[in-house]
Amino acid sequence: MSQVILCRVLDYDSNLIESSLAAAFLKLGVNRHFQSGENILIKPNLLSAVSPERAVTPHPVVFAALAQQLAAMDLTLSYGDSPAMSLPAAAAHMAGLAGVADHLGVVHADFSSATTVRFSQGIHFKEAPIANGVLAADGLVNLCKLKTHALTGMTGAVKNLFGIIVGPRKAQLHVQFPDLQSFSNMLADLNREFMPRLVVMDAIVAMEGNGPMNGKPRACGWLITGFDPVAVDAAGAVIMGYDPDDLMVLKTAQKAGLGKANPRDIEVTLLDAGTGMTIGEGSLADFSSQLAIPEFVRPAVSRSIMTLATQLAGPLIKRHVMERPAILPDVCTRCGQCVKACPVDPKALTQNQPAAVPLYRYDRCIRCYCCQEICPAGAIVVEPAWPGRMLASAKAHRTQSTRD
Ligand code: SF4
Ligand code: SF4
Repeated sequence: MSQVILCRVLDYDSNLIESSLAAAFLKLGVNRHFQSGENILIKPNLLSAVSPERAVTPHPVVFAALAQQLAAMDLTLSYGDSPAMSLPAAAAHMAGLAGVADHLGVVHADFSSATTVRFSQGIHFKEAPIANGVLAADGLVNLCKLKTHALTGMTGAVKNLFGIIVGPRKAQLHVQFPDLQSFSNMLADLNREFMPRLVVMDAIVAMEGNGPMNGKPRACGWLITGFDPVAVDAAGAVIMGYDPDDLMVLKTAQKAGLGKANPRDIEVTLLDAGTGMTIGEGSLADFSSQLAIPEFVRPAVSRSIMTLATQLAGPLIKRHVMERPAILPDVCTRCGQCVKACPVDPKALTQNQPAAVPLYRYDRCIRCYCCQEICPAGAIVVEPAWPGRMLASAKAHRTQSTRD
């Protein structure tokens, strides 16, 4: 069994979050996993330079409480991430983490330079340029945000580790591992090599809809802590209304022996933030219906029988049948960033003129959703798989006929 603590915290009240983390640390025995004097890197998910209200990044109040708890164990702390867009320092500043870090003496780690590391246990993924700030640390604390993700369904702890890889190599990895299964294998190898000592997930306000960058904040009210990144993600998945077993990343990580994704194998303790009292204990499966947020808007991705069929049937079916990115022309600002972000060569997105809405070439598209993730205007959405598109088009036709 893996142990996960869920603290009921309804807003970003610093006192409540500090006392919640203190109670969770005590319950888990976190101090036994660190030694006085160690250099520990906090790895927040800093996808881009956006303000905390967007629910893209972990809230600075959570970061502050975590840093304080760790500092009390006589650890030397640093933090950092390699954002998909923006410079690391700009993302940390906009997310509100840089100000907190300066105040608490947490050093901004080097995420601008990297050293290529050969993985000792890599099965599918054998080497990568890892941020020197990560390599300088004795251990990692994974501080993730609960969000929807167009490729993986959700992003939490396991996906957060992708950010320790620096620079354009991240985009190229989507080409090297072009489908969800191979991408999940890659994440499993990366997590095995850089297994965090501790995971804290900010699910107080999560992101639903068009995540991980342009979705809507959704109040969920949970601060989640554990040692097993897969189990923490499974708890987040349940809050979103997923069966964790339906999420390829978690299923693969469990198969690779990185942790537990099956809710029956995860022991949860629910704590009340104000009193620190236990308000529930049992397996994650026991609390699934209680934890699931009603009508949480999840992406229409790649867990379906349709996806399995497309993986088996190959690129032709994938091109025509599978979910795909699409641009909302009325929202698009024609900035061209999606074209730059597209990692395939030749590109699956083209902009015929500088001020034109880019056009997709679905025959080249590997469905990595880098374009959707990077779009600063939120103009790229995920269109449903072929049957859904047919239904939507028939519905639009019926509506039009009624009007005519
Ligand atoms: S990144 Fe978004 S706003 Fe910019 S061109 Fe692409 S779709 Fe339009
Ligand atoms: S068009 Fe978008 S989803 Fe398709 S390969 Fe390019 S970045 Fe990935």
